[in-house]
Amino acid sequence: MEFVPGPDLEVAREHLGLGDDYRPRHLSPSSSNLYQQCPRKWRHRYVDRLPDPPGVPALVGTFAHLVLEHLLQRPEGQRSQDQAKLLARTLWPEFEREPDYQALGLNDAGAKDFRWQAWIAIAGLWALEDPDATQVHATEHEVQVDISGVPFRGIIDRVDVRDEGLVVSDYKSGKAPAERFRHRPLKQVLLYAAALQAHTGQLPIGARLLYLGQRTLGVRVTPSNIGAATEELAGTWQALNDDCASGTFEASTGPLCAWCPFLAECPEGQAEVRARDAAGNVRADAPGLAVIYAEAG
Ligand code: SF4
Repeated sequence: MEFVPGPDLEVAREHLGLGDDYRPRHLSPSSSNLYQQCPRKWRHRYVDRLPDPPGVPALVGTFAHLVLEHLLQRPEGQRSQDQAKLLARTLWPEFEREPDYQALGLNDAGAKDFRWQAWIAIAGLWALEDPDATQVHATEHEVQVDISGVPFRGIIDRVDVRDEGLVVSDYKSGKAPAERFRHRPLKQVLLYAAALQAHTGQLPIGARLLYLGQRTLGVRVTPSNIGAATEELAGTWQALNDDCASGTFEASTGPLCAWCPFLAECPEGQAEVRARDAAGNVRADAPGLAVIYAEAG
């Protein structure tokens, strides 16, 4: 496919750090994950800037993160569920004025359900740990460092202090992966650990994903597992830069095409969804079905 920059490229350059040749100036874990998932999808989001508004699950997670960020900034002993409820009430009026939330167009019942889902996620922290017994070093800690030649940028949800050293934690409000798939999501927190090491000179001892209300996925940080994560990051960075230079951005088709927000722009993805649907391999609630039937009709 021909590489044609979208009309908002100037805005994209300014906000996302794209250089004159569309190369990003930095790489975050989410951008890296997206590129690994599908280079074409990366291009649609970061270069073409096609709309991909967050849905209810993503915004529920955003609000839960916000409340937990403020709660864990409080001193130990002041992080009860009652205090979390008070914080949620205080933060809600500003959050509900956000354009992304307004774009959901929820009625009163929908808004009530949204707040309930957010509270379930927030309260889910107590199923994993006692926030009052946590010694917090930082929340929403922004790191911008060079890792293995990659200009890395990320925001770490929480850095805790233990007797033996620092622990990096990231909250997740989505479904926890099965044990056999734990490896991939943990790479994100291993990269945060690598970034923290580059920033402070101190190797964190642990990296954790807190799947709120479900379970904690944790790993002891070692030079070996950090090395593997950073090596992969460097490979992704190289491939991404090569694609930016050539404008290739291959379409990596698969089951997720049926859920891709850019399916209408992607002939390869549409062919994939049609083939999977013909074989009975697409869930009835996949939004991609409406896209391919609209294209056909
Ligand atoms: S539809 Fe599939 S191949 Fe196309 S951009 Fe989306 S994920 Fe990639």
